[in-house]
Amino acid sequence: MRIIKSINYMQNMALTQRASGRSIGLVPTMGYFHEGHLSLMRKSVEENDITIVSLFVNPIQFGPSEDFDIYPRDLERDQKLASREGVDIMFCPTEQDMYPEDFKTSVNVEKITEKLCGASRPGHFTGVLTVVSKLFNIIQPHRAYFGEKDAQQLLVIKQMVRDLNFPIQVVPCPIQREEDGLAVSSRNVNLTPEQREAAPALYKALAKAKEEIEKGEKNAGEIKNLIEEEINKEPLFELEYVEILDKTELEKVSTIEGKILIALAARLGEVRLIDNISLEV
Ligand code: AMP
Repeated sequence: MRIIKSINYMQNMALTQRASGRSIGLVPTMGYFHEGHLSLMRKSVEENDITIVSLFVNPIQFGPSEDFDIYPRDLERDQKLASREGVDIMFCPTEQDMYPEDFKTSVNVEKITEKLCGASRPGHFTGVLTVVSKLFNIIQPHRAYFGEKDAQQLLVIKQMVRDLNFPIQVVPCPIQREEDGLAVSSRNVNLTPEQREAAPALYKALAKAKEEIEKGEKNAGEIKNLIEEEINKEPLFELEYVEILDKTELEKVSTIEGKILIALAARLGEVRLIDNISLEV
């Protein structure tokens, strides 16, 4: 596996590979790899001739009081893990090269970025879309892999790809979980043992909601109450939102039918966790 830092070098190499007829899969990440990242890499390695994993902790998608400084980083460990999965190139640009002093552009998608995580993290999705656009232009992959763990991000990126005609197939990948149901996340290492023990309550609440819906409950308000009650039983949680939405426009629904997304965010101390489930009723 090669490590490439230079944007120009990466762009030229990707263009050469593409011109010689090889398919390119891109897995954008912020590093500190876990099973979620590795599952995306595996899928890309399976489906493409060349897999490029980008590793860049993108400063512009973090708010001023967010965890950019304590975001976990371990390049050496990440290199070993990616290499073991058969990744061909790890692209690790510097902040200075990605955002030189005279950088002036941003990419935004309207409406669907204003709710859920967008409401509590103003500017977050603009930061994500700007960096993903840059990565798409630098690497020009045939396919790009994103996790359903970040359901809103996935939807927003799909929208951007459609709206701006990026000739790229966005490939959604299922949420990877720990044995106790907690969605794996780089941020989980920042949980104290007590918080870590409490954390699976998020998924348990979602699973309970799913069970009730499968038994026939169609009232979104009832399901939302049930999830909130379950999470609030655990005093360490500070619940940010629980929403039941239609999966395409992210509009709140009152009746559960069709393609539904139940998404939530909660804090355990300094750590912000998100989770979701999708259902088709
Ligand atoms: P991150 O490094 O957190 O920006 O994540 C990079 C990619 O991995 C994103 O597409 C995430 O949605 C995906 N990802 C993160 N956690 C998980 C997970 N538990 N299951 C599946 N994909 C994930």
